[in-house]
Amino acid sequence: MSKPISTATLQAYDRDHIWHPFTQMREWEASEPPVIVRGEGCWLVDSEGIRLLDGVGSLWTNVHGHAVPEINAAIKDQLDRIEHSTLLGLTNEKAALLAKRLADLAPTGLTRVFYSDNGSTAVEIGIKMAFQYWQHRGRPEKQRFISFKNAYHGDTLGAVSVGGIDTFHAVFRPLLFRTIQAPSPYCYRCESCVERDHTRCDLQCLQELERLMEAHAGETAGLVIEPLVQGAGGMIVQPPGFLKRVRELCSRHEILMVADEVAVGFGRTGTMFACQQEAVTPDIMALSKGITGGYLPLAATLATEEVYGAFLGEYRELKTFFHGHTFTGNPLGCAAALASLDLFESTQLLESLPQKIAYLGSRLTELSHRPHVGDVRQSGMIGGIELVRDKDSRDPYAWEERVGVQVCLEARKHGLFLRPLGNTIVVFPPLVISLDELAFLMDGIEQSIRSVCD
Ligand SMILES: *Cc1c(COP(=O)(O)O)cnc(C)c1O
Repeated sequence: MSKPISTATLQAYDRDHIWHPFTQMREWEASEPPVIVRGEGCWLVDSEGIRLLDGVGSLWTNVHGHAVPEINAAIKDQLDRIEHSTLLGLTNEKAALLAKRLADLAPTGLTRVFYSDNGSTAVEIGIKMAFQYWQHRGRPEKQRFISFKNAYHGDTLGAVSVGGIDTFHAVFRPLLFRTIQAPSPYCYRCESCVERDHTRCDLQCLQELERLMEAHAGETAGLVIEPLVQGAGGMIVQPPGFLKRVRELCSRHEILMVADEVAVGFGRTGTMFACQQEAVTPDIMALSKGITGGYLPLAATLATEEVYGAFLGEYRELKTFFHGHTFTGNPLGCAAALASLDLFESTQLLESLPQKIAYLGSRLTELSHRPHVGDVRQSGMIGGIELVRDKDSRDPYAWEERVGVQVCLEARKHGLFLRPLGNTIVVFPPLVISLDELAFLMDGIEQSIRSVCD
């Protein structure tokens, strides 16, 4: 057996060759990041044997923990059969089984599954479907999209076009298509929200959305929304009833509702899909992150029969959806996804969540009384803890201070891996996390905030 390569060497290879996502590389090059070599349940283990609790579920993907025997076995079994075959001209066993499974689990009416391999493409596909739908329906002037301030739908250009986070998106503006941007409710940033009158913000946003829809219905193909929670925007939680109202408005104005459940799908908010909490069926729904339990890159864009039907015709009518990705419907990814869904059932995972959600809620409420904690937000197993310089005036920390980053670095000393969104600390652990582990996570967060902010 070859000699194991030292941590320092691996860090050097990384520093010399890996360009990391969303990372100022000058800073990175001066750092000594843990080198992850293994995972066990909710824990990451680095090359020095140090264990870190995975507080952000490996960037919001992990459901059942790491190195789960059942998912490992499903992938190994599939690997011995076939690693990949194409969906262009063929189908495959696992892709067919998973499509049936997803259609059964999804909000009623979403019966058609278009596969891809990441969240951004799942959204792009939704956008292109909605656009082309109206071309086929004889309403070619319906070409525009309504998007939300503060939204995040991925980093490819179509997904960035419907995004609304200036820090990430402004530089690419010249490359993007223009959308009709609606304000986001419970933004925690507008005057009403600063005065903690979120209800007023909610009302104003709905009125503005209604006005925009009335003004632009004739030229609008679709509306793209993150249901219940705007993730990368800072874990901004929408008020109850908002999503349902958006659904009603979309129906009334003949605008296709594209729900991006890439972050919130697969149990994260407490139900299998976030839309189900408001009994909403979107016309199109994008899924990725949690779909394989966090194991492999896979995504799916679900559509209703109504949307699907608009693409049927004689070949020469050119109603085909001319879109596809090489690894569409990859059998290994689909096998992992099927094993993950089996685990949801056999471990009664959704049934186990209310207790953990309540505990997370109580810990977040406690934190909200701390001096440098502004808003705390929660939806199911998602928590957001906003750090502020001054609690009473809600004077924020300057973004350049990177207080969120400092708290997350401090948290490593407490055995946690965290990744913030600006000055919001994110809690997004594997759904399988135990109450003891959740207590460890929240204790560490509290102590880290204390050390850095107080
Ligand atoms: C992460 C995310 C995406 C993008 O997914 P990728 O797999 O990173 O391309 C899209 N929408 C939402 C809501 C997300 O959280």
